[in-house]
Amino acid sequence: MPELPEVESVRRSLVRARLSAEIRSVWRSEHALRTGTHWQDERLGLLRGATPLRWQRRGKHLLWRLRDREGDELGLLVHLGMTGRLEVAHRGEPRATHTHVELRLGDDRRLRFVDARRFGGVRARPWATLLAEPPLHELGPEPLDRSFDGAHLQAAAGASQRALRDVLLDQRVVAGVGNIYAVEALFVARLHPLLPAARLRPEAWARLAAAVREVIAQGLANGGTTLRDYVDAEGNAGRNQGALWVYGRAGEPCRVCGTPLRRFELGGRGGVLCPHDQAKPRGRAR
Ligand SMILES: [Zn+2]
Repeated sequence: MPELPEVESVRRSLVRARLSAEIRSVWRSEHALRTGTHWQDERLGLLRGATPLRWQRRGKHLLWRLRDREGDELGLLVHLGMTGRLEVAHRGEPRATHTHVELRLGDDRRLRFVDARRFGGVRARPWATLLAEPPLHELGPEPLDRSFDGAHLQAAAGASQRALRDVLLDQRVVAGVGNIYAVEALFVARLHPLLPAARLRPEAWARLAAAVREVIAQGLANGGTTLRDYVDAEGNAGRNQGALWVYGRAGEPCRVCGTPLRRFELGGRGGVLCPHDQAKPRGRAR
């Protein structure tokens, strides 16, 4: 599933496409996307006549900011889900299989949302409404924001018995981190993914926050991680998969100590750790 670096790479590729012409019409396939109350009411008709302003991102969500004919600001929220992607096409280019939304612009270009598994979602709203609704209204800080540090992590999760891996997946604690970058950050911080949050000392929280920033920044610099489906709006895959420390490398030697990496299971979504560098402490807090 695309996480912050992948979604941000898509955003940057959309900025490069310079879509600025008015949206003339909206085409929608007959298939439902992502279930859930807030995703079923898409209201894509709001986009008709709207002019693009800019692409933004919050956590794992893309936001297209637009202005309607009355001058009011609108937003299109896009969640890529598992296999969703955005494509910029010219009029007459055939639609890819599994295209679910097509926005037709005044310059004869089209923005298409393609999603084979349909776990992605789209919705249009007045801009202020979009920000006030789930899921955006309760997102925690971006990992590269100044407000994200060890003290923030400790304040948000330090009293909890939840496993550290699950703390990092909680979008209210930090926005945009999913399983790949959570597992990578825990390795960089030399912390066991199953360690209960309440066991960490302030210096370990600071180390973990720094590790999250480091792996996210590296993922961004590499244009995201492509394990299966992810490509940006220009069709480019990411390059970060070759730089991963542990994710997807179970059985292979640790890049630091050479110990064979091992899978761990947690709530049905596993990951990988180094049993030497990320030993689970007994008794004492770290
Ligand atoms: Zn190791």
